Amino acid sequence: MNVATPELIALVRRADTLATVSGLLGWDEQVNLPPGAADQRGAQQAALAAVIHAASSDPRIGALLATLEAKGGAGLTDDERTIVRQARRDYDKATKLPADFVEEKATQDSRGYHAWARARAENDFPSYAPVLEKNLELVRREAAYLGKGDAPYDYMLDLHDPGLTASAVDRLFGELKQELLPLVRAITASPVASRARAAGDKLRGFPVEGQGAFLREVTGKIGFDYNRGRIDVSLHPFCSGTGSDVRMTTRYKEDQPLDALFGSIHETGHGLYEQGLPASYLGTGLGINAGMAVHESQSRLWENQVARSRAFWQHFEPRWRALFPGQTAGLGSDELYLAINAVEPTLIRVDADEVTYNLHIILRFEIEKQLFAGELAVRDLPAAWRAATRELIGLDLTSDREGVLQDVHWSGGAFGYFPSYCLGNMIAAQLWFRALALRPALEEDFARGDFSWLLAWLRENIHTQGCRYSALELVRRVTGEELSPRPLVRYLRERYGSLYGLG
Ligand code: ZN
Repeated sequence: MNVATPELIALVRRADTLATVSGLLGWDEQVNLPPGAADQRGAQQAALAAVIHAASSDPRIGALLATLEAKGGAGLTDDERTIVRQARRDYDKATKLPADFVEEKATQDSRGYHAWARARAENDFPSYAPVLEKNLELVRREAAYLGKGDAPYDYMLDLHDPGLTASAVDRLFGELKQELLPLVRAITASPVASRARAAGDKLRGFPVEGQGAFLREVTGKIGFDYNRGRIDVSLHPFCSGTGSDVRMTTRYKEDQPLDALFGSIHETGHGLYEQGLPASYLGTGLGINAGMAVHESQSRLWENQVARSRAFWQHFEPRWRALFPGQTAGLGSDELYLAINAVEPTLIRVDADEVTYNLHIILRFEIEKQLFAGELAVRDLPAAWRAATRELIGLDLTSDREGVLQDVHWSGGAFGYFPSYCLGNMIAAQLWFRALALRPALEEDFARGDFSWLLAWLRENIHTQGCRYSALELVRRVTGEELSPRPLVRYLRERYGSLYGLG
């Protein structure tokens, strides 16, 4: 190891440790904060942000990087290369943006959120349009500061998933769209679709305490370590923290018990990834996740491929019925399985099932691509959203609230974020078939309540790799094939084809 490496690791980890404190304050804000404390929390976060920025832009990091990168990084081990590459990424981001730009963007992000919340409540897109225009201008400027002014959308995609480009996503989504549209049409035309809806409607009156006990049992059995993490309640479910302190949240509805359960299993997938990062390298390139798409592949794999399977319920259904005898008395096992795998096109992305969800993402990607290419003006977004909803989801919009105003992301300048969700579904399916090929008895394990093989395989091949590889590289290495939408299409056809009686 180069003599400069341990010092670089220490400085990078110090900045990361401070960032985890900020993350904890953010978790607390959504879980515990008294309503009157928002301003005080804002001041705490602002003060901490200045400390974090100073730590991340420490000139000593720059000097150490220059030493380690000399002669093209000759003599560095693979581990050191990963650490140096990630440290360079973070250091450039901390030092290449002028202070007044960072301040302008922070102010605009907070202003944007409030403008969006008001516009959505009042179904008033015109009042929000100038905010979006400003946000687009700011991210273009940010890309230019980082040397990516000629390809700002690629810059935004790369921010969430290193190495990803718009043309790569375009190719993947184009192929997925062609396969998915006829599949969704066939599913929704099947007489089974209404039976699935009716089965879901039978699930009523599940006490919150029982739901909480059951989902803790399930997520613990999958492998979430409650000695190094916890689950609480928040308005919007999320997973934060890393290493030995992972915080998940969920929310309960008595008449929709599957929501909290599958939401928690989803967050557990994120949590298992964070708990599986190498503890001794937390905060360095070897101890942080490989980007949003890979992260989302972990949550989707556990939520969908694993927990929506018959084998999974073979194991957990008796316990579920024992906890809720009255509520489940009139519901057969096949009905439960249908309710778990109900497909119904909806206008709202966050309410979508795992089949149609991908179309919501393709819609957003196509619109973002046009926005950044200058082919679509902000003022024309509502009409573009309407047309795309008709084409992709097959539904007619009656208000912008259920259309272009439904997502918070763009209000804070988070463009290029949506594709990760769908790429995560693709990666999950590709990992799933690889795991099945290596262990054909995987679902028999699940039926016995044994998830250890799958978790150990993910630990070894994904979690402990940190961000050594880009998402595309990681998929290639683990599955032996390029990232492709075909495994996702195959998985959806197999599961929903037999369930919905498609030929
Ligand atoms: Zn997620």
